[in-house]
Amino acid sequence: MTKIGCDEGIIYEFNKVHEPIRTIPAGSTVTIQTYDCFQNQIQSADTEVTAIDWNKINPATGPFYVEGAMPGDVLKVKIERIDIGEQGVMVVGPDLGVMGHALSEMESKILPIRDGHVLFNDLQIPVNKMIGVIGVAPEGEGVNCGTPGAHGGNMDNKMVTEGATLYFPVFTEGALFALGDLHAAMGDGEVSVSGVEVAGEATVTLDVIKGVSLRHPMLENEDVFTQIVSAPTLDEAAKTAAVEMIERIAEKASMPVSEATMLMSAVGQSEICQIVDPLMTARFVVPKSVLNQLGITFFE
Ligand code: CA
Ligand code: ZN
Repeated sequence: MTKIGCDEGIIYEFNKVHEPIRTIPAGSTVTIQTYDCFQNQIQSADTEVTAIDWNKINPATGPFYVEGAMPGDVLKVKIERIDIGEQGVMVVGPDLGVMGHALSEMESKILPIRDGHVLFNDLQIPVNKMIGVIGVAPEGEGVNCGTPGAHGGNMDNKMVTEGATLYFPVFTEGALFALGDLHAAMGDGEVSVSGVEVAGEATVTLDVIKGVSLRHPMLENEDVFTQIVSAPTLDEAAKTAAVEMIERIAEKASMPVSEATMLMSAVGQSEICQIVDPLMTARFVVPKSVLNQLGITFFE
């Protein structure tokens, strides 16, 4: 199994002009090591948060050139496994997250991770491992790794976890895939703007799908198919996610849009990924049991 260290190359923005650090044959499984979102600069309670280098934020390991991926294709990323370090860190401060107005100082907190739990003071929080930043090079200008978009990026979607499969639109030859910003736990919304930030490794299988067009990332797990959309407001993100899904289902199932809209209003869930990044991210979630009854799949 190929293992790639974060010392081999990191990016602070997804950009089609970047030189790939490796070429990956389609169908390969690779283990990608990642720094935490502060590039491991906060290791103890003694670290002055204001003194860290704030240019070194949200590094993603990569980018990877996936053989055969061409603009208009879909990059399929199966998340096989996530391994995390033994401690996480959270940060709050002025102008960060939903409580930024009420906080006057930057503060950090080290959270030990033991036996499947994050220790928050005396509290035990179940580990809920996920990948915050994951995506491909965008169509136009580069997008910094703190911002989500049609290319993925900082989606902070807690469904991006072991067993999930992501589908990204490919905008440039080789896709230029990268990932980082693992979280040991995070709730929908990521209200403080930091999950339990942690270094670790993600093992993913990368594949290329031809002949399906996609405007925004999708995610599949054992139970559901979801459409993920990032936009300037949560209203717009949630609405576009639902619209994209309804149109896809209407087309795939050869169903009138009116029918697909009623069906999705009955069984689809509009959910929040995060509400604190430069764009907001929402997902629209459809049970596979319904897609199975319709006899449709999206990527086969
Ligand atoms: Ca993040
Ligand atoms: Zn993070």
